[in-house]
Amino acid sequence: MRESLKQLVSFVQQHYQTTEFIPLHEPRFDQHEKDLVIDCIDSTFVSSVGKYVDLFEQKLAAYTGVKYAIATVNGTSALHIALKLAGVERDTEVITQALSFIATCNAISYCGAEPVFVDVDKHTLGLSAEALQAFLNQYAEIKNNQCYNKQTQKRIAACVPMHTFGHPCEIDKIQAICEQWHIPLVEDAAESLGSFYKGKHTGNFGKLAAISFNGNKIVTAGGGGAILTNDAELAKAAKHITTTAKVPHKWEFNHDQIGYNYRMPNLNAALLCAQLDKLEGFIENKRQTAQTYQAWCKQNEIQFIQEPQDATSNYWLNAIRLNNKEEQQAFLEYANAQGVMTRPVWTLLNQLPMFKHCQAMPQTNAQWLADRLVNIPSSVRV
Ligand SMILES: *Cc1c(COP(=O)(O)O)cnc(C)c1O
Repeated sequence: MRESLKQLVSFVQQHYQTTEFIPLHEPRFDQHEKDLVIDCIDSTFVSSVGKYVDLFEQKLAAYTGVKYAIATVNGTSALHIALKLAGVERDTEVITQALSFIATCNAISYCGAEPVFVDVDKHTLGLSAEALQAFLNQYAEIKNNQCYNKQTQKRIAACVPMHTFGHPCEIDKIQAICEQWHIPLVEDAAESLGSFYKGKHTGNFGKLAAISFNGNKIVTAGGGGAILTNDAELAKAAKHITTTAKVPHKWEFNHDQIGYNYRMPNLNAALLCAQLDKLEGFIENKRQTAQTYQAWCKQNEIQFIQEPQDATSNYWLNAIRLNNKEEQQAFLEYANAQGVMTRPVWTLLNQLPMFKHCQAMPQTNAQWLADRLVNIPSSVRV
C-alpha cells in the first residue's frame, strides 16, 4: 500500500482531533434538539398527531423549494409510496442503478415490480444519461403513450436515479430522456438533502422524490423519511395512504383503500425540526471538511471524489478512489485497524441473489467504481 494512504489515516485523525475510533458519520445534537423533544414529550402528543409533523413538513418544503413534503417513518417507505403514486404496480419494471443502497430495490420490490439496471457515470457516481438513452434505444417502445420493454413485454413504470453520497447526477438530462420516453421520474434523494443541481434542490426534477433521515444521514431523527412533490394531487394522496387511508372524521374510523402505517411520529418530527434548523451550518462544515480532504489528497496524489460540474453537493459522505481492488482492500484493512472507519461502496444490487435474474445492462463503470471507492469519515466537526 502507498505510504500516502497511511498518512491519510493520520490526517483524518488530525482533522477530527482524536486517535479514538472515528465513525463514518455520526449525528450532532445539542440543547436545541433536547428542548424540542422535551416539549413534545410534555405535550403528550408523541405519536401520530402533533404540531411538529406539520411544522417539519413546512420547513422541509421551504428549504428544498418543493411545494409539498410528506413526512414518513423512514426513507424506504417514502420511496415505496413515491413509486406507487408514480404508477409502479405489479409486473412492471423500474429502471435504476446497481450502484445504490438496497432500499432503492427493496422499494421497487414492495410494489411487485422488478428493477432493470443501467450503468452509472464515473464522474457523478449516479445514473448515466447516456447509458439510459442507449438502453431505451435498444429495448424500449412506446405504446398508448406508455413505455414498454420489447424484451420482456413489461411496462417501464418509472426511472429512479440516485444522487450518490449527496453528489447530484445529471438529473436534467435524465429528466429530458424520461419525458421523451413517457417514463415517470422518481428521484432517490435519500442522501442528497442540501444538494443542488443547476441551482435547484435535488428532488425537484421528478414527479416525486424520497429523502431519508436515517441515523447516518446529514440530518436525522434516528429514523425518518419524506416524500417530495410539486403536484398537489400526489401530495394529498401521499399523505392519505401513508396514514392508513383514513377518511377524516371526528370519531368514525373509515378507510377508503388499503393504506400504510408509514407516518412519522411527532417525537421524531420534533427532533427533525431542530436538526433542520442546523442544516445550513452542517453543510458549510461538511463542505469545509471536503475541501480540506481535497487539498490534502491533491498534494498526495490520491483521487478525491469532488462534486460534479453544475452541482453544489452536501458532501454527505466523502470518498476517495484508489488504483485497484487490491489497494482498496489493503486500505480498508489498514484504516479500520487504526480505528478510522472506512467502507467500500455497496455490493452492486444486480449481483444480490434477489436481483440476479433481473435485466442488467453492462455495469462497466459501476463495477470499476465498486472496486475502487472508499468512504472516509465525514461527520460534522465540532
Ligand atoms: C438511506 C437510503 C435510503 C432510505 O433508507 P432508510 O433507512 O429507509 O431511511 C434509500 N436510498 C438510499 C440510496 C439511501 O442511502
